[in-house]
Amino acid sequence: MSWSQKQQTGDWYDQMTVLIGSAIRLLCGEAGVFVVANEAFDPQSSPEYVPYRVPEPALPLLLAAVSEGTRPSSAHPLAVSPLPPAGLLTVLPGLYDSDMEQAQGDEATEAEGGAQEAGDVVHGEIVRQQFELCSLFVHDPVGMLGYLHFVRPAGAGSCFEQHDAHQGALRLFIAQLAAGLRGALKARALVKEQGRLAAIFKYSADGILTVDNALRIIDFNPAMERLTGWRENEVLGRFYYEVLRARDLQGNEIGLQDSPLLQALAGNTVANREMYIPARDGQLFPVRVTASWVRSAWGEPMNGILNVRDITREREEEEQRSTFISVISHELQTPIAIIKGYASTLARPDATFEPASAHTRLVAIEEEADRLNRLVGNLLYASRIEAGGLQMEIVPLDLANLIESVVRRLQAKAPDVTVRLDIPDNLPTVMADRDRIEEVLQNLLDNAIKYSPRERVIWLACRATGDEVVVSITDQGMGISLRDQEQIFQRFRRGRDSSTYSLPGAGLGLYICRAIVEAHGGHIWVESTLHQGSKFSFSLPRVEKAQLPMVVF
Ligand code: ADP
Repeated sequence: MSWSQKQQTGDWYDQMTVLIGSAIRLLCGEAGVFVVANEAFDPQSSPEYVPYRVPEPALPLLLAAVSEGTRPSSAHPLAVSPLPPAGLLTVLPGLYDSDMEQAQGDEATEAEGGAQEAGDVVHGEIVRQQFELCSLFVHDPVGMLGYLHFVRPAGAGSCFEQHDAHQGALRLFIAQLAAGLRGALKARALVKEQGRLAAIFKYSADGILTVDNALRIIDFNPAMERLTGWRENEVLGRFYYEVLRARDLQGNEIGLQDSPLLQALAGNTVANREMYIPARDGQLFPVRVTASWVRSAWGEPMNGILNVRDITREREEEEQRSTFISVISHELQTPIAIIKGYASTLARPDATFEPASAHTRLVAIEEEADRLNRLVGNLLYASRIEAGGLQMEIVPLDLANLIESVVRRLQAKAPDVTVRLDIPDNLPTVMADRDRIEEVLQNLLDNAIKYSPRERVIWLACRATGDEVVVSITDQGMGISLRDQEQIFQRFRRGRDSSTYSLPGAGLGLYICRAIVEAHGGHIWVESTLHQGSKFSFSLPRVEKAQLPMVVF
């Protein structure tokens, strides 16, 4: 029994309270409680009660009295017992007024063991009155509904109890009360069920759309709004095919007859069918749909239901996995093949080499081993970023000084490349981890060189803005298409044109750069025109503006 049950609102509750109130009044009681005993109405709820004029503090007392009183049964549906607990009447309204309260206080000790006594003040005299607790067994041919417990003045028997040896009138009354209560309980179960379904509909992560038998949209849940960009009020009542004109996996429009709801209507199973649907702005996204129809008892279709699951993420992950495998296998195979080739040549017992030629081969082996080493390092770096284990040591940093030393090293390694610097004299100090920012600069400069096979001039500029310092590296290389620009900062993403694939790379450099820059509270972005060149920029917070955590990620 739940004592903390909240009074519920709604028609069914009012209906039930009115029914209980009338029943109690007809049986001459003033206050009572109906205890729902049959859980079959709602398997998820525990036994519940519906009180009528019984305040919360009186409930435990009333039900304690009930457990001590006589239990009714189908053979004896009305059980009457004297009312034992002294405190109960004081908390039941209507049975008792303030004069009685005083009188009862005086007489309480006399009331032990027998019927509870209270008093009415008539002509200045206290008239003693006894109360009794009645319990009615409410049932019908289907089974038991519950108990109606009420308190009434002793002897105030109702008309149903009088002059009827077989209690025929009382039984008739119980049958009518049971019919009313059963209706009210059914209504309550339906209200609860409706609430549950509404919550599923509203909070489902999948889009749900329902149509009537003329294929007009009658429900469009919030997930569907998020997926398609349409608002519910814009699509309600519209022909569903107008709103969702799906395409198959080859990009061809799916005609009305072949559309999921029509296929389900024709009796075909439509479960997890993959297709593309257009959002309001025309953009297509991949989905998996399931369609079904609710039919009447005569098999007439009433409502079609379309469940739409967005599988964009799933697709991206699949694509990422296959890109990962192809990129990594290519990136591993190439240096291994070169190392193996040179090493086997050098190891041939019959071969003799000029020192210079042997040296060239050994240098090539060393370079390829470095490449492998870099790849493994980047993979470890990326997995550390994923696991959130990258730590930074962020201190005030003289960026100009760092840039100059990185560029000096680069030019020693690639003397044919010219780096033009544009760094203002008074460049503000930034808050940064020196080693990590060196990696970012190194990566962006390496890319600028790698993806500019003909042009060998690179510009590196710095400028201070309000809160930040922005570093830009510009090349006149192969450039990046708009579509690729959106993706290249993700793991294992590389430009999709063939000239990129002919160059070594695992698609990890920019991913690592972005993670490092963002961990500093900065941003990284690209502006690029295909076949003309790219400008990669990143920002770092100026020292006086920075509010940085010591450990980031
Ligand atoms: P990787 O160079 O190993 O492929 P990155 O993450 O550094 O990996 O770069 C991702 C992709 O971005 C590259 O494969 C290339 O397509 C593109 N890209 C990066 N920098 C440039 C650049 N300066 N010019 C043209 N494309 C670039």
